[in-house]
Amino acid sequence: MLFPFENLLQDFSRLLFPHFCVACGCDLKNRDAVICYHCQLDLPFTNFFSLPNNPVEKSFYGRLNLQAAGSAFYFTKDSLIQILLSELKYKQNITVGYYLGRLMGNQLMQSERFASIDLLIPMPLHPKKQKLRGYNQATIICKGIQSVWNKPISENAIIRKVFSSSQTLQDRLHRWENMEGIFALKNRDQITNKHLLLVDDVTTTGASLEALGSALETENGVTLSVATAAYTI
Ligand SMILES: [Zn+2]
Repeated sequence: MLFPFENLLQDFSRLLFPHFCVACGCDLKNRDAVICYHCQLDLPFTNFFSLPNNPVEKSFYGRLNLQAAGSAFYFTKDSLIQILLSELKYKQNITVGYYLGRLMGNQLMQSERFASIDLLIPMPLHPKKQKLRGYNQATIICKGIQSVWNKPISENAIIRKVFSSSQTLQDRLHRWENMEGIFALKNRDQITNKHLLLVDDVTTTGASLEALGSALETENGVTLSVATAAYTI
C-alpha cells in the first residue's frame, strides 16, 4: 500500500513522463508494465509448450530430431503479437522482448517436456546485422526467459557467418538452399552432452531453426528443443 505522499509523487511522475500501453496506447499506471491489463487478457496463448505433437513440433517432423518444440503465442497479421514483435525488432523496444521472454519462461518452466534443458541458444544474427540493430532480439527474449527460469545462455557457441537479407517471400525449399552452411560452430565444449533450447522470435517456415539445429544435432551427446515467442498460423 502506498502512502498519500508516494501516490502524489507517482501522479506527478506520470504527468511528466507519461507511460503508455504499447498495444492500445492507453495510460499505464504501473511504470514497469509493457501492456495494459485488457491487452494482457487478449494475448493469444497457444499452450503448445505443454502439448506433445503440437503444430510447431509437427512442422519439424522429418527435418530435425527434437525432444520438444513450441511457441508461446499465435501470430496473425495486425494482431497484438505482431505489434509487440515489431516493437522489439524494428523500434528498439527491448523492454517488450524481456516481457515476452518472461511470459515464455513462465510457461516453459511449468512444462515437464522442457525440464532437462541445460542451455539457451538464441538464434544468431550476423555480426553486421546485430551492429545495425544494436542487439539480437532472440538474446533479449532469452534474457527475459532467464529472469524467471534460471538457465544459462550461450551467444558464442555457434555464430552466423553468412549475411542473408530478408527472405520472407521465398518458399521453404528455396530458403533451405540459401540457409545451408550459414552457421559455424565456435565453442564445441559449451554444447557437448547438453540439452539445448534453440530460441527465436517467430516460427514461420522454420528454415533458420532447421539450419541452426542441423549444425548442432550431430555434435556429441547433444539433444535439441525449440521455443519461439510466436507461431505463424
Ligand atoms: Zn492496452
